[in-house]
Amino acid sequence: MILIMKQEVTENQLSPIINKIKEKGLGVQVNHGKDRIVLGLLGDPEILQTISFKSYPMVDRVVPITNSYKLTSREFHPQNTVVDVDGVKIGDGSFVTMAGPCSVEGEEQIMEAARMAKAGGAQILRGGAYKPRTSPYAFQGLGEEGLKMMRKAADAHGLKVITEVMDEAHIEVVAKYADVIQIGARNMQNFRLLEAVGKTGKPIGLKRGISGTIEEWLNAAEYIAVQQNFNILFIERGIRTYERATRNTLDLSAVPLMKKLSHFPVIVDPSHGTGIWDLVSPMARAGVASGADGMIVEIHPDPVNAWSDGDQSLNEKNYLQMMREVTILTKAMKQITEQTKEEIVC
Ligand code: PEP
Ligand code: MN
Repeated sequence: MILIMKQEVTENQLSPIINKIKEKGLGVQVNHGKDRIVLGLLGDPEILQTISFKSYPMVDRVVPITNSYKLTSREFHPQNTVVDVDGVKIGDGSFVTMAGPCSVEGEEQIMEAARMAKAGGAQILRGGAYKPRTSPYAFQGLGEEGLKMMRKAADAHGLKVITEVMDEAHIEVVAKYADVIQIGARNMQNFRLLEAVGKTGKPIGLKRGISGTIEEWLNAAEYIAVQQNFNILFIERGIRTYERATRNTLDLSAVPLMKKLSHFPVIVDPSHGTGIWDLVSPMARAGVASGADGMIVEIHPDPVNAWSDGDQSLNEKNYLQMMREVTILTKAMKQITEQTKEEIVC
């Protein structure tokens, strides 16, 4: 349920209603909207019914939220959330690129990948040190050694770090080196893991599950948000459909839909979304056009010899070309947004 306050109501006039809510054992979140305060209430719907919110003079409207996700919903938080990754803002209208190899393979490889990422204009270095591999015999990642190498490479090039955590036991070590903790597609509904990463307070890159529906994805974010962590990035990385010609089907309609249903930024992953390197640039361009807040892309100094996901990784030349195209498109998108604003004003 959300309570929309009257326009003139200030935060220090809210104590009577907030005290009542707390007295009943309910949770409350105070949001400062564009022109008024909105209170989000959490808890047992039957207890919510026992309070006559309309009788409080500061309340303008009472709006029930019927979705199972609340903190994640746009109704609850009408303005966009901007996630601050140690100074890199995501969701503020800019387009942020995260680039790097699928896996950290060694000091030289990640240092070279970081140099490439920076040269193309990326602000965040990606790379896995704990890898979710389909086969238990495949390379599983370098673990903490890999994290150290990645941090060093990122710092050397003024980049932030996004890397995956696969289980609770590694949260502490991953949080020590990462600026954004990635939850991989296979763990989108690992609810204990979601709660545990939520508690770190760090920005979380939440990948969409391989067969995750929009509603399941939003509810997964809710597990993080109930830990009072509102630094969530949705990452659309393709879903499994009947189509086998591409590794996954990149669901770009999810971008505007997620932005309509939620206030958190949405990032596109054209690498896992297609699995084929020469489809990555076209889908990155489409990602910009769909209104995404950024992308995460796999690049490698030598894709042919990559230890994982070489088929979908861009070499330097192709990555730089893609970034030139993306820059042109982000400028065009800004113009479109400005023009739309003017039209609405008219
Ligand atoms: C990855 O980013 O390398 C990865 C394993 O992604 P996903 O969880 O989307 O498969
Ligand atoms: Mn990968």
